[in-house]
Amino acid sequence: MQIGRWNHQAAGAASGHSHSSPHESAPRGERSYSARPSRSSEGRGSYQSSSHSGSYSRRPYSGGDRPSFGARRPAKRGMGSFGETEAEIAKFTNKTVVTTEEPVFVPEHKFADFDINAHLKENILAHGYELPTPIQDKAIPHALLGQDVVGLAETGTGKTAAFLIPLIDKVMKQKGERILIMAPTRELAVQIEKELAGFAKGLGFRGMVAVGGANIAPQISSLRHEPAFVIGTPGRLKDLMERRALDLTGFGTVVLDEADRMLDMGFIDDMRLILAKMRKERHTLFFSATMGKEIEKLIGDFLSSPVIISVKTRDTSKNVEQDVVRVPRGVDKFDVLADLLKGRDFTRVLVFGRTKFGVEKLAKALSRLHIHSESIHGNKTHPARMRALDAFKTGKVSVLVATDVAARGLDIPAVSHVINYDLPSTYEDYVHRIGRTGRASNKGIALTFVQG
Ligand code: AMP
Repeated sequence: MQIGRWNHQAAGAASGHSHSSPHESAPRGERSYSARPSRSSEGRGSYQSSSHSGSYSRRPYSGGDRPSFGARRPAKRGMGSFGETEAEIAKFTNKTVVTTEEPVFVPEHKFADFDINAHLKENILAHGYELPTPIQDKAIPHALLGQDVVGLAETGTGKTAAFLIPLIDKVMKQKGERILIMAPTRELAVQIEKELAGFAKGLGFRGMVAVGGANIAPQISSLRHEPAFVIGTPGRLKDLMERRALDLTGFGTVVLDEADRMLDMGFIDDMRLILAKMRKERHTLFFSATMGKEIEKLIGDFLSSPVIISVKTRDTSKNVEQDVVRVPRGVDKFDVLADLLKGRDFTRVLVFGRTKFGVEKLAKALSRLHIHSESIHGNKTHPARMRALDAFKTGKVSVLVATDVAARGLDIPAVSHVINYDLPSTYEDYVHRIGRTGRASNKGIALTFVQG
């Protein structure tokens, strides 16, 4: 863990031309965090088997051609994927890697030590959090002092509570304080709001989610109530601003969550435009898993002398056993997948595919074999994605097929396996994918299909 101070460079908010993102969309109502019970999940997704047949040929999978596990020979593969060389393939297996135990993290603070609202403290404990995670331990004290913070941390580190806890406290202490949270995907925005709802129970302020994809009207009417927290994706936030439903002049605090992913998704112009419309003297909390040139520039342009906190992340989780599944030439990898998924241990499996179309087709083809599967990808509406996710989380289906973008930031408990059916584009994507399993103290298995 490192803490540093960012050398502030002259701020120059370039307001750029913006566009709407294909990943955007779908409204959620606002939520008032009064003492009433939190809203339950939004309906269940009942799986409908489709009669549409995908192009996965139903060649019977012969035992003699079984895929072997383990790294081997070089081979030429498709362009634009990570895992095209043997050196890269070797990174998909950790069987032979001896990992040394990391020292147990001893936090400097307890939640009880923080000078925060007493009711909020109770809610944190009721949420099951006993001790702060490293990012929380280091970021919360600075955020409570009103300092700008850059948190270099990825999903799974507890970064959400690292910004929510001090900001809820701020809303309790400063009447009328409003907070904008920008996140790259609808799912992440919804997840943040859920965590907020847990911490904010009974505190008497409102929060709402402003994401694209469906009807904007309920979001516009929610905004009329001036909720303390607005959590949204940049495209929809910009849209709401253009419709004059969202006036950012009243917002003194902004969080950019997974800023690097927002950049990857092409939100940079929207992000800059939104930040430029906010008050200059504001409180900014900025989270990113990586620190590239563009991220540095954003920080330089929009943050004021931030404290930089880097939570050392291992390349891959030691809780995840990684291996490759060799699919010999002539064998259809769909058959290999179907065969694997019939295994008893494959209780909750996240399968990654490269394209929205391929992901949809794969889930349907699996379901036709009675391996009940759902899919999430950018072509689905927000409610359909939430239903699919809910069906997976509640065990209604055991397989969720996803694209990288749709699965980003999702926190799904007890994923037994991550299967990289299609190779990831980059090693970073690989690390994100396999990070969906082996969470908390659970063990997980990540298998990567390698053909040829
Ligand atoms: P995040 O990185 O914010 O997506 O959080 C990852 C997971 O860690 C979520 O399931 C959180 O509920 C959980 N979590 C975050 N902070 C704590 C904490 N202090 N104690 C226990 N669990 C936590």
